[in-house]
Amino acid sequence: MFEQFKEISNQHLDHFGEILLSVKRLDLVHPTISGNKFFKLKYNLLEARKLGYTQLLSFGGAYSNHIYAFAQAAHAFEFDSIGIIRGEELQDQVLNPMLATASKLGMQLQFISRQDYRRKHTPEFLAKLQQHYPNAYIIPEGGSNDLAIKGTAEILTDSDRANFDVICCAVGTGGTIAGLIHASASHQHVIGFSALKGDFLNDEVRKWTTQNNWQIYPDDTFGGYAKYDGQLLEFIQNIDEKYQLPLEPIYTGKAWRIQT
Ligand SMILES: *Cc1c(COP(=O)(O)O)cnc(C)c1O
Repeated sequence: MFEQFKEISNQHLDHFGEILLSVKRLDLVHPTISGNKFFKLKYNLLEARKLGYTQLLSFGGAYSNHIYAFAQAAHAFEFDSIGIIRGEELQDQVLNPMLATASKLGMQLQFISRQDYRRKHTPEFLAKLQQHYPNAYIIPEGGSNDLAIKGTAEILTDSDRANFDVICCAVGTGGTIAGLIHASASHQHVIGFSALKGDFLNDEVRKWTTQNNWQIYPDDTFGGYAKYDGQLLEFIQNIDEKYQLPLEPIYTGKAWRIQT
């Protein structure tokens, strides 16, 4: 099922005094399911298949990376897919490029009101949804659940545990950093840079781990999710020119900008 998965070795980027900066190019792990999303979906796909589900269902905003990767994964692994998308008003609009691609890959898009969307994790809402789509395996928004964290824990290898003191990543729903924390050695420190404002993510991540060797910095610089400015875009371009490293402004660009 995962023939197209590639092991990714770390790429040494630069020295800053005593500090060696390396990057793990998770965007190269799979031709269509990019980066951490592959790890988050891996055990969910296996579970859905094992339990005999034919459809995968998940949630997201109109520009959700998760929905996009989810549509790609469902297509690659021959599941039908359903995307529950925030915003009823989008129903009558031309699909943005991400949703258009998802739709082309066979994803059935269902647009719901923001009010309903806020209720999507409640047992009542989920029960109704499951009744409506009895063959669907349901994955939460952002894809973060126990099986996702089992997958993201595999991002770190033995050599990563032996060779690095600090592990940094971008944070959205917290599933990726939770897996990294699980997999980290006690001498290591895991630092997350949130794409969102506010520090509610600490509580989210504490649901998944009892370890204390981590911290998350909120996005106090750019104003929150999907907000960025010309300086960030310029920074991303400079990093690409200097290191041939393609960052993006929602997650990785912010994480790198705040670190440097
Ligand atoms: C989705 C995504 C994240 C966020 O992952 P979470 O597990 O939701 O915290 C971070 N970086 C990139 C590039 C992403 O696509």
